[in-house]
Amino acid sequence: MFDVKQYRRKESEVQRVESIMRMLPSGAVNVLEAGSRDGYITLKLAAKYPAVTALDLKLPQVDHPNVTCVKGDITSLPFKDNSFDLIVCTEVLEHIPPEKLGKACRELMRVSRRYLLIGVPYKQDLRVHAMKCIHCGTINPTTGHVNTFDEALLKTLFNGMPFGTVEYPGTGVYKTNRLSYAIYKRYGFPYGSYLQEEPCIYCGLPLKKPHLNVVARTICLFAKGLEFLQNKTGPSKSPVWIHILWDTTRRDS
Ligand SMILES: [Zn+2]
Repeated sequence: MFDVKQYRRKESEVQRVESIMRMLPSGAVNVLEAGSRDGYITLKLAAKYPAVTALDLKLPQVDHPNVTCVKGDITSLPFKDNSFDLIVCTEVLEHIPPEKLGKACRELMRVSRRYLLIGVPYKQDLRVHAMKCIHCGTINPTTGHVNTFDEALLKTLFNGMPFGTVEYPGTGVYKTNRLSYAIYKRYGFPYGSYLQEEPCIYCGLPLKKPHLNVVARTICLFAKGLEFLQNKTGPSKSPVWIHILWDTTRRDS
């Protein structure tokens, strides 16, 4: 089972949350958290701002006098233009199907009156911890992440707006290589992130680890060893996340 408490204690996660808190601008009143999930960040926002709207595909359950919960889709936000002084959208855009990504970003810009804080994984190797669905046979990237981001893509997605503050929290991104990936693929991805909450992004059924015989297990262990050496010896200091705070009133400057 996915253990959210354990996840929150991870060093890169602690650094991610600290970075968000550090980057929050002062002076905002109406705040939207687009993609609030379990409300962990929502409650931190509610401690700082008087009116926080928590939005997610499933109606969020956040019990706080400053928080209003709304069920909605980021690709079609149920709000008027310029509704919020600040929009916080972290760990969301990597999950949006690529063909809807541009729409989602335009929606965030549309409802923003001033600040937009975006957080996504930085240059993520989507092959790492991939999984094969035993039900529909398709390959799933880890934790339903379907997009990988760098500065250029983020700039394009957000209309070329000049970056305000940028932070890169977390270090030591895990990478794989072609050979290890090919071996994992051959044997149904035994080291995928099967403990994740997200089901198969194609058929919606739970993802399950494949059962391998001794020979297959040994070959996969070799692939794992290769990956381990690659990550031990290679440059592994790259950041895990990128956070950007835009001032959207500067969008035309
Ligand atoms: Zn499936």
